[in-house]
Amino acid sequence: MNTLLVKYSEIALKGRNRRFFEDRLVHTIQAVVPEDATVKKERGRIRVTLADAGDMRQAEEALSRVFGVHSFSKAVVVESSIEAITDAALDKLVGAELHEAASFALETRRSDKGFEYTSKQINEIVGKAIQEAHPGVSVDLNDSDFTIFIEVREKGTYLYTDKDLQSGPGGLPVGMSGTGLALLSGGIDSPVATWLAMKRGLSMDAVYFHSAPYTGEKAKEKVLDLARVLARWKGEAMRVYVPSLALVQKEISENAPEGYWTILFRRSMQRIAERIARQKKYGLLVTGDSLAQVASQTPENLTAVNAGSTILTIRPLIGYDKVETVARSQHIGTYAISTRPFEDCCSVFTPSNPKTKARLVDVEKAESRCRSLEKLENQAIEEMQVFEVTPGKIQTV
Ligand code: ATP
Ligand code: MG
Repeated sequence: MNTLLVKYSEIALKGRNRRFFEDRLVHTIQAVVPEDATVKKERGRIRVTLADAGDMRQAEEALSRVFGVHSFSKAVVVESSIEAITDAALDKLVGAELHEAASFALETRRSDKGFEYTSKQINEIVGKAIQEAHPGVSVDLNDSDFTIFIEVREKGTYLYTDKDLQSGPGGLPVGMSGTGLALLSGGIDSPVATWLAMKRGLSMDAVYFHSAPYTGEKAKEKVLDLARVLARWKGEAMRVYVPSLALVQKEISENAPEGYWTILFRRSMQRIAERIARQKKYGLLVTGDSLAQVASQTPENLTAVNAGSTILTIRPLIGYDKVETVARSQHIGTYAISTRPFEDCCSVFTPSNPKTKARLVDVEKAESRCRSLEKLENQAIEEMQVFEVTPGKIQTV
């Protein structure tokens, strides 16, 4: 068996949109499966044929991370004749598994309406042949231990079982919704937010604010390692922009009242990220904020952080609680990295008593005392490092 049949969710996909979706999906799948595999669209399905059946596991691994994939299954492909279908069901599908199963079901779909038997007739013919070959097992359509799926399509018939069916992550193929820039810290939340944005079809890159000499190389490595994991889901390299916030933080901490530091840092980050996004043509920003009573995440403070910024900023985690976010980060593969103990840039300058309900006028007043802020923000962009990150490699650009 060297074929994988990929299903995607067709809901809400019409006309041009659908073609765009399929083409993006084929493109992403092609990029992540072994190089010599062929990837073809087939009316509502994508068929992946491996040159080497030994690559099956690797291809399945890759597909389980492709956004837009609803499910996939290794499948037997035969010509569309009732004899070939029956033989394939008997020889290739129902082996040892059926002996253990007390009952089985058949589900046939016939998208080739020219085929001489109806779905119901195919079920009956194949079902009977299986029962004759395996007396003792019964057909039970409602509560079976084993289901055989048969899809009669124009270019051949696919057979697979529910045991081979695996879930994909769903969502939309990366790139279908354009591009976004995530504010990626070393924490648990922002990698999950980035992943959720990718799931909705955004091709994501990231900006990480480091704060050397207050934060070390290890903190930066941590974020680049998070980007490696996210790049695997993205299916292509992820760019990580790394400006230093150190001088901005120094300016703020020397001039503004301590209670406002956190909000002012976040406002600078927002402005710098917006400027990078405009320059590099990203469509929106993504942050890992949720609603919480910590200093940057009350409605008042989120308002103050965003005031003055016009780029769309989405916060996919806004209604998540921590337990959900942690579970998701474990599934994504970022949790173990996020929980490595290194300081992020804001914990160095954490005020003892941060404002949680800052009024915008007061925030602006505090900020106006930091006269070099704009210059320092521009300098941070001019001097930033840029990395190109793939699962296997981190390169400076
Ligand atoms: P996270 O787990 O993502 O760090 P958090 O719950 O710790 O989130 P905050 O530290 O208040 O929340 O930060 C809120 C959001 O601001 C982060 O999710 C991230 O998007 C952005 N952010 C914070 N610090 C940085 C940083 N050093 N570089 C880039 N983005 C940052
Ligand atoms: Mg954080």
